[in-house]
Parts: sequence; structure tokens; C-alpha cells
Amino acid sequence: MKRILVTGGSGFLGSHLCDRLLKEGNEVLCVDNLFTGRKSNIHHLLDEKNFEFLRHDITFPLYVEVDEIYNLACPASPVHYQFDPVQTAKTSVIGAINMLGLAKRLKVRILQASTSEVYGDPELHPQPESYKGSVNTTGIRACYDEGKRCAETLFFDYHRQHGVDIKVMRIFNTYGPRMHPNDGRVVSNFIVQALKGKDITIFGDGMQTRSFCYVEDLIEGMYRLMNSREGFTGPVNIGNPGEFTMLELAQEILDLVGSGSQLKFLPLPQDDPMQRQPIIHMAKKELDWEPKVKLREGLIETINYFDKILKVPV
Ligand code: NAD
Ligand code: UDP
Ligand code: UDP
Repeated sequence: MKRILVTGGSGFLGSHLCDRLLKEGNEVLCVDNLFTGRKSNIHHLLDEKNFEFLRHDITFPLYVEVDEIYNLACPASPVHYQFDPVQTAKTSVIGAINMLGLAKRLKVRILQASTSEVYGDPELHPQPESYKGSVNTTGIRACYDEGKRCAETLFFDYHRQHGVDIKVMRIFNTYGPRMHPNDGRVVSNFIVQALKGKDITIFGDGMQTRSFCYVEDLIEGMYRLMNSREGFTGPVNIGNPGEFTMLELAQEILDLVGSGSQLKFLPLPQDDPMQRQPIIHMAKKELDWEPKVKLREGLIETINYFDKILKVPV
């Protein structure tokens, strides 16, 4: 049995990870400042003897004793990470320094939840891990993209300079139950709008693409990466190569919900990437991982979740 720290543990991905780690028989220390996370995501765990919740902001030092660290703390939706961009950059950069300092002192393995956003608005399509990216350093997405890029740099420097055992995971767009209804990301927005019969907000012409991974597949990839062979650091892409335009996504959700919502076209936000699709050869080879859940199946689960919580708000 390990004692495992999950930062950002009451967020969307973090809460699913806590579930998984407890199921494997571990003790979990969930650290979160509840900026975008919710206690309701971990409500079912609060009485578990192997689960502990600590309200804490990782931009401040943290002295605890653990055997492994998953660093997920950071708002992930553009609406939320742009709300307080300075805090977003601090969370990625100072948060990474603190968690790496902790890993260094304890001599434990640490996994970083990095992102496909390190590729920016990519000129190379689809994206392999070797692609160095195209980010506008002064744009409104840079607090997140550059924060995550700097965090990757810190991970590799702590690895080279201090021998810290690191794993870096580049996560592509992930969706599923426990996304916040006001999260602002496209899947939750479209589903909530379709269920409420409100207009579906398409930014730009809706021809931009994303590749959506279901949360269960993503957590499996994360767990496998943490437990991968010594010396394999990544960065490794984890995502679903199935690529869809936002118009296709909207149509699929409207069909599944049976909704009469209309499409409403709004301006495309600044620096919004036009396309994104992971190459996952490395994950297949190193982790024997590939996604299993098809978009349609994952959307049905997610629609059922939102249908339930919109009736009884949590
Ligand atoms: P989320 O917003 O639901 O979860 C982030 C969690 O971090 C929240 O619970 C929030 O309260 C917490 N947090 C934020 N700042 C903090 C701080 N300073 N100290 C402590 N806790 C803090 O987002 P998510 O989708 O669960 O994303 C989790 C991680 O995965 C993030 O690091 C994100 O960048 C990364 N990621 C997610 C996706 C995705 O599609 N979901 C894609 C790429 C990368
Ligand atoms: N740190 C922490 N918990 C620990 C050890 C370190 O939060 O158990 C923080 C500490 O605040 C420090 C940062 O991690 O600023 C980086 O630690 P490191 O040892 O690399 O740097 P130093 O302490 O030498 O500045
Ligand atoms: N998007 C949209 N309508 C919305 C929310 C998002 O058309 O209500 C678009 C957005 O412009 C982007 C894509 O959907 O092109 C994915 O956006 P999201 O915020 O989910 O993730 P990211 O841009 O970080 O990949």
C-alpha cells in the first residue's frame, strides 16, 4: 500500500484518479484549493478511511510525507485559467517547483499533468511528442500554455540536476462525468445547452478540430505512465486520435440528446488552435495503452451525468 498525493484531486480528472488509486488499495492525500474543483466530486470519498482531503494552494510550500505524487492542480478550461492569468502561471510554475522540491526531499516519483497546449496552434498535424510547438507567448492562452511548458522544463531540470524520478504526460482534450456544468469547455457547454434547449454556442465557423478522450481511458493511461519502467520519463501523448470538428461534435450531441437547440455562431477567441490530434505510438509501445471508448459511448455517459445533476444540482 502506498500513500499517494494527488494535487488538484477534487477537480474533474483528479477525482477520478483518487477513485482509481483507492480502488488499487492505496492511501490518498487529496490537496486542492477548490478554485475550479468541488467537494461534491469527492463527497463519496470523505468517509473512506484511506482518503484525506487538505485545502491548500500549491503555490505555497507543502510539507507532507508521501510515496508518490501526481501533480494535477491547475485550472484547465480557458474561461477559468484566463480569469486570473497570473495565478494560473504561478500554479504551474511555482506549484511545480514546490512539488518537485517535495519529490526531491522525499526521493519519490512525481507525475506532471502537462497538456497538448504545449503544442500551441500546431503547424504540424497530427502532433508527435518531438514537435516543439507554436505558442504565442504574449497571447491570452499563454498563462496556461507557457506555464505548462515551463513546468515541463522544471521537471526535466530537476530530473537531470537532482535525479528526481519524473513522468510527464501530455493530456489531450478529455471529457466525462464530473466536468463542472459551468466549466466552459466545449463538451460540457454543448451538452448543457442541448439539455436545456438553449442555443449551441459555436466559436468561429466550427471547422476547428479537437480529439476527445473519455476520462476512463485517460486515467488508465495516467496510471500506466506512473507505473511505467524506471528511466522512461516521457513526455508522452495521452489522448484519443479520433478527430472531430466542433460542428460534428455539436451535431452528435444534438442527435443523442434529441434536442431542438439551434446553432449560434460567435467570434473565435484569440489564439484558438485550429486543429489538434495526438500521435500515440509512444503510449502504445511504452505503456501498451490505447483508448477504448468511442466518442458516442463516452458522450452518452456524460449526457446521462449532466441530465442527472441538472435536475438535482450538486
Ligand atoms: P479541473 O479544473 O477540473 O481541475 C483542476 C483542479 O486543480 C481543481 O480541483 C482546482 O481547484 C485545483 N487547483 C487549481 N489551482 C490550484 C492551486 N494553486 N492549488 C491547489 N489546487 C489548485 O481540470 P481537469 O480537467 O481536472 O485538469 C486536471 C489537470 O489536467 C490540469 O493540470 C490540466 O491542466 C490537465 N489537463 C487536462 C485536460 C482536460 O482535457 N481535462 C487536458 C490537458 C491537461
Ligand atoms: N518544498 C516543499 N516541500 C518540501 C520540500 C520543498 O514545498 O518538502 C518547496 C520549498 O518551498 C522550496 C521548493 O519546494 O522552495 C523547491 O525545493 P528545492 O529543494 O528544490 O529548493 P530550495 O529549498 O533549495 O530552494
Ligand atoms: N468552443 C466552442 N463553443 C464553446 C466552447 C468552446 O465552439 O461553447 C470551441 C473552442 O473555440 C475550441 C474548441 O471548442 O476551438 C475546444 O474548446 P475547449 O475550451 O473545450 O478546449 P481547448 O480550446 O483548450 O482545446
